[in-house]
Amino acid sequence: MIGAGPAGYPAAIRAAQNGLKVVCVDAWVNRDGGSALGGTCLNAGCIPSKALLESSELLHRARSEFAAHGITASGIVLDLAVMQKRRASIVRNMTGGIGSLFKAAGVTAIFGRGRLLPGRRVEVTRHDGSRSELDARHVVLASGSEPTELKSARFDHEYIVDSWDALEFDSVPGKLCVIGAGVIGLELGSVWRRLGAEVVVLEALENFLAIADQQLAGEAARHFRKQGLDIRLGAKVTGASVANGAVSVSYSDRAGAQTLTADKLIVAVGRRPYTTDLYAPGTGVELDQRGFIQVDDQCRTGADGVWAVGDCVRGPMLAHKGKEEGIAVADLIAGRYAHVNYDVIPSVIYTAPEIAWVGQTEEQVRAAGTDCKIGVFPFAASGRARAMEAAVGFVKILAARDSDTILGVHIIGPMAGELIAEATLAMEFQASAEDLQRTIHAHPTLAEALHEAALAVDKRAIDSINR
Ligand code: FAD
Ligand code: NAD
Repeated sequence: MIGAGPAGYPAAIRAAQNGLKVVCVDAWVNRDGGSALGGTCLNAGCIPSKALLESSELLHRARSEFAAHGITASGIVLDLAVMQKRRASIVRNMTGGIGSLFKAAGVTAIFGRGRLLPGRRVEVTRHDGSRSELDARHVVLASGSEPTELKSARFDHEYIVDSWDALEFDSVPGKLCVIGAGVIGLELGSVWRRLGAEVVVLEALENFLAIADQQLAGEAARHFRKQGLDIRLGAKVTGASVANGAVSVSYSDRAGAQTLTADKLIVAVGRRPYTTDLYAPGTGVELDQRGFIQVDDQCRTGADGVWAVGDCVRGPMLAHKGKEEGIAVADLIAGRYAHVNYDVIPSVIYTAPEIAWVGQTEEQVRAAGTDCKIGVFPFAASGRARAMEAAVGFVKILAARDSDTILGVHIIGPMAGELIAEATLAMEFQASAEDLQRTIHAHPTLAEALHEAALAVDKRAIDSINR
């Protein structure tokens, strides 16, 4: 196994569960020089970002929502050092946990770089410089991805920063500019906005959240703007320069050339597969035009016995997608059945309100010419959401008109990231809207919104007016 991120480490554990002898080589080096398992997700992505999203949302709620509950709280003060310490300790705990899981499963971890040589040999260079070679019957490449750099705004990691840097700020920037209104831009923009920064987000596209269902995207844009995120669409960045402790960003939009000054600039314009020095010539591993390792439907590369999973191969760059691929490959190697359903991969954006979806958007369904029924249920009509002081957003379900099969579920609102699991399971089981209609949902729960949206598909919702 090369790489111990969310694609590599589950593959290693499952392979060991399948009775194989497993070595997992990982090159991750933290800012303090220490090694850690878990890759981008645990060290610099999913986990630290969710820790800060949670903390910053609590601060925001304490300041803006407690009064509605009749709670008067004075002297609410941000201690960023403690918040950051908590983030770091969650990360340490989780990455250390993988070490324990490896030990329990019998996986040998090596901290260093792995390089595939022809004939399924792997050259390992440990962080102390010592070298060795391993012979393997199977090699899984799970080397992940890295932030895309803009030529017009090169990282200096102090003023022009990537997402990892932006998770570790030790003070709240007065003014923060983010390039890219994608998942990272919105999540990190939200964190620093809630902690007090003035945030401007520059997005090249004219459409906000172009990958999402546009009804959902429209609702999201409304909430984010209300929260004070200054999202500027159709903004093409032309340059960024640092002087006198500030970044000057130039961009052009419909109105012409613009400039703005910020204390920090986060560049979050996507990530690209990381394959630097991962394999020697002559191995048979090849990259596609976009730099991803070329694989078939079951993650086999062009080299016999060499597999690749996670962010370094095609498909969405999501931890759970990589995890499923890693597990599937470990099962295939052991001669077991395995299958990754690429049509049913949930996406979650952990903002407030949360955004989550699975399956096709309304735009995709229409473009495919499929006749569909749509059911929408607003959280404003959910008793639980009201009790939580979180009655914003909606659940939207798309079902095929002929078969009633659920084609897509789109949620914006409280705990959308948790609620999407039910929709994902339903779609995995090829459920119809009627299946959801006939499933009893506990009252009062947020999940009832899914039930009601399924009823609304046939204009039979009970707790909202059917249109
Ligand atoms: P990685 O996690 O990148 O791990 C690859 C590992 O391989 C690294 O440790 C790397 O050092 C190592 N490696 C690379 N080359 C070599 C080599 N030659 N030898 C040895 N080791 C090597 N996804 C979600 O699903 N949910 C989220 O909430 C989420 N939040 C995110 C927030 C941020 C800020 C970022 C940046 C990403 C987030 N992601 C999220 C995306 C998620 O982190 C990735 O999809 C996921 O980490 C990919 O897993 P991976 O195992 O393929 O790669
Ligand atoms: P992204 O693809 O989600 O968003 C990048 C955005 O930047 C897009 O809207 C794009 O149009 C815009 N953009 C590109 N070039 C630009 C330019 N020159 N100027 C202005 N805007 C530009 O990428 P990301 O936010 O960097 O995230 C990277 C990856 O990490 C994603 O694939 C995402 O799936 C993953 N991630 C997932 C989560 C999650 O699941 N909650 C959280 C964070 C990151």
